[in-house]
Amino acid sequence: MKISVIGTGYVGLVTGVCLSEVGHEITCLDIDSRKVERLNRSESPIYEPGLEDMMKKNIDAGRLDFTDSYETAMRGRDIVIIAVGTPQADDGSAELVYLNNACRSIAETMTNDMIVVTKSTVPVGTNEHVKNEIEKHHNGSYSVEVISNPEFLREGSAIHDTFNGDRIVVGGESEQAVEKVKSIFEPFGVPIIMTDLRSAEMIKYASNAFLATKISFINQLSNLCERIGANVESVAKGMGMDKRIGDKFLNAGVGYGGSCFPKDTSALSAIAQSVDYDLTIVDSVIATNEGQQRIIVDKIKKVFPDLENKRIAVLGLAFKPNTDDMRDAPSIKVVRELVDAGAEVYAYDPIASENARTYLPGATNYMDSVEEAIDGKDFAVIMTDWKEIKEYSPEDYAKSLTNPVVFDGRNCYGLKEIENTGLEYHSIGRPTVY
Ligand code: NAD
Repeated sequence: MKISVIGTGYVGLVTGVCLSEVGHEITCLDIDSRKVERLNRSESPIYEPGLEDMMKKNIDAGRLDFTDSYETAMRGRDIVIIAVGTPQADDGSAELVYLNNACRSIAETMTNDMIVVTKSTVPVGTNEHVKNEIEKHHNGSYSVEVISNPEFLREGSAIHDTFNGDRIVVGGESEQAVEKVKSIFEPFGVPIIMTDLRSAEMIKYASNAFLATKISFINQLSNLCERIGANVESVAKGMGMDKRIGDKFLNAGVGYGGSCFPKDTSALSAIAQSVDYDLTIVDSVIATNEGQQRIIVDKIKKVFPDLENKRIAVLGLAFKPNTDDMRDAPSIKVVRELVDAGAEVYAYDPIASENARTYLPGATNYMDSVEEAIDGKDFAVIMTDWKEIKEYSPEDYAKSLTNPVVFDGRNCYGLKEIENTGLEYHSIGRPTVY
């Protein structure tokens, strides 16, 4: 089928590439012409394992191309998938300006009847608004059906997730449009759930809010564990073995970040407020997460009350491993607090340093390896559990740091691994090892 994908970010590009991989003819459009130029040179503008190779293969096969022209992308298309960003607006709700612009451009350039699929995460009721916006801005000669198809891929394993996801959600009011959109995703071999528009939109927010709740729950428990002398790692293991609870998303740490959980929990709370309902669980999840990002700084200040001129190694900047995404990464707040307290930060991240420069302008010295980051520094702080960082030997910290002290915001090491290494090791929800 001939399909256009609007927006070539993490979601749009992966979706376009994967749909071309299963044989569809895909045009990906972005208004950022520098991105489109890079894509036309077969270069991926984002880091995502396996993406660039699959992209090159499908460009060469003639099934995938890129444009910054709506006229080109809309010509003769049956289906258009919207995957533009929906960041957090100042009032906490989802910012729909990019979506509205995309609707207007679609309306002005469509050449036939069309199904518009919204993959971006959007508040309940937005797909009805998408239909109205497009109908309002075009001359009425073509019909528009809308489908909600929220995305569940995870950055860092996005290609794998597309072909091995737990479910694909297709929501709509027109049975024919739902069936047609279902058929384009069938080759992925993932279970497809069909529902109405509003339930589909809600499934995405409900899922992210539930996962965020698991994280904030275990983080609050980790704070309690520290106060009562329990080890949150053992507690989480014991809880997770109960299949009704499950062992995923029970890792205590400095809180969730990224481009989804913070904004989606906030948007869900705003959706509830718009209908005069207090979603107290989600509000508490958000507050807990914000507090959790302070915990590592409090731990540092307890050991080093004066941070003036301290030289600190920060290991990991991305909001999680295997991505270069810095949006709402907990490292941003932590690095800023350390710098505000007078410290010099020497940071290492395997791939997010370039993006980090935008989020932390002038605040950090960027190093090329863990060794270089910790060499001769006063102490180290771990912010992202990259494999490379987890595999770094605890003995080597003790050798390279001026004070052999590590604050681990991601519980990268087992406590037994630290014993007898000469390292003072502060982690989350577990006893300190001296
Ligand atoms: P992104 O910011 O990486 O990419 C969005 C792209 O859309 C950008 O390249 C931008 O230039 C382009 N764009 C903006 N306005 C446009 C317009 N009018 N026409 C054409 N292109 C336009 O965003 P993302 O991370 O891919 O997220 C997209 C959506 O998917 C969001 O709603 C997000 O919440 C949701 N989502 C993201 C993830 C994730 O892990 N990133 C997972 C699931 C769902």
